[in-house]
Amino acid sequence: MEKRAFVTKELVEKIAQKYPTPFHIYDEKGIRENVKALKEAFSWNKGYREFFAVKATPNPFLISILREYGCGCDCSSLTELMLSSALGMEGGDIMFSSNDTPPEEFALAGRLGATINLDDITHIDFLEKTLGRLPKTLSCRFNPGGCFAMGTRIMDHPGDAKYGFTREQMFEGFRLLKERGVENFGIHAFLASNTVTNGYYPELARQLFELAVELQRETGARIAFVNLSGGIGIPYRPDQEPNDIRAIGEGVRRVYEEILVPAGMGDVALYTELGRFMTGPYGHLVTRVIHQKHIYKEYLGVDACAVNLMRPAMYGAYHHITVLGKENRVCDHKYDVVGSLCENNDKFAIDRMLPQVEIGDYIAIHDTGAHGFSMGYNYNGKLRSAELLLREDGSVELIRRRETPRDYFATFDGFGIYDRLFPEGDGR
Ligand SMILES: *Cc1c(COP(=O)(O)O)cnc(C)c1O
Repeated sequence: MEKRAFVTKELVEKIAQKYPTPFHIYDEKGIRENVKALKEAFSWNKGYREFFAVKATPNPFLISILREYGCGCDCSSLTELMLSSALGMEGGDIMFSSNDTPPEEFALAGRLGATINLDDITHIDFLEKTLGRLPKTLSCRFNPGGCFAMGTRIMDHPGDAKYGFTREQMFEGFRLLKERGVENFGIHAFLASNTVTNGYYPELARQLFELAVELQRETGARIAFVNLSGGIGIPYRPDQEPNDIRAIGEGVRRVYEEILVPAGMGDVALYTELGRFMTGPYGHLVTRVIHQKHIYKEYLGVDACAVNLMRPAMYGAYHHITVLGKENRVCDHKYDVVGSLCENNDKFAIDRMLPQVEIGDYIAIHDTGAHGFSMGYNYNGKLRSAELLLREDGSVELIRRRETPRDYFATFDGFGIYDRLFPEGDGR
């Protein structure tokens, strides 16, 4: 499928007069249409709810949009819990799916009444000690081990992942929890990441529904919900076929009718904790070409770098690139598109065919709406960019200002570096 940017050169030139590149920009219209389609696809399940994986894009403006459609938040850290609570989420609005969890995070999750999804059987005692008593509702994360395959295709290797309870531990854990007064149970699993196939959720659902039936039968625990977690992916590459969320919802419905309904479990609620699928395609990192270098290869040096988008450097991930204003030209030039870190893996693209690029051209790096800005860091003393929102009416709103040197130096308490660097004030 052809990938088109949701911004034009003209719009970016106008925006850049006020908010210089690099910046992440999000498409409100795309986010709204997608969440509507998701809700529709699972509307057959009465208890269905999406808990947006906050770590994907922890921005209150964006989470508020999703909240209008009834989404809750999936958190896994103290500040994610704080952000969700500041947005008015409480109790059942928050899913806390963490691992290696520090006590103060369980304590806050407990105070907020969040639904806690335990990552390990030893966390039962740890949680009870931390909170004083166990909540009435608890969920356990399942790790089946081995590999997760669809047909002959291996999708991922849960057996090598640090998460979850083994199968035996699920049964033991549910018995323990029931003895200690837990009344409503959930099952959670995240077995493959960024799947671009309509078959992943139905296959995952089949495994979890079968487990749910066995758990309820053998332990007597009342299974209130099954959490299919994240993992629905997006087509980063132009040759990938996007997921069809209607087909996915329908596939899960069929398995539900086949396994849960006959077992008398037709009241089980389905939850999802999607991140990438919710916002990924609706973000671009917009950056400007500031240098061209001709050595053994041709390089385009841009004003963004891996601190703004880590996925290519970290995973070798493909992110599509559009040279704005040159959308219809032939891609007959081969470039490495690089940032300024003193790190040779700071490359947004390697051997990428693009139209001929000039210094000053703006480029849009696609699919940065999830796990983009949020994975940012400060290596080389580089600062985080702004985040902007392209509203449905075409206006552009600043939803997070860019960092300034003052932010970067703000944690050197006691050294007096602030007063030396910014005797006049804020240093912006
Ligand atoms: C990261 C994560 C998600 C979201 O994953 P996506 O691939 O962005 O959908 C959901 N649940 C948990 C527990 C996660 O760690």
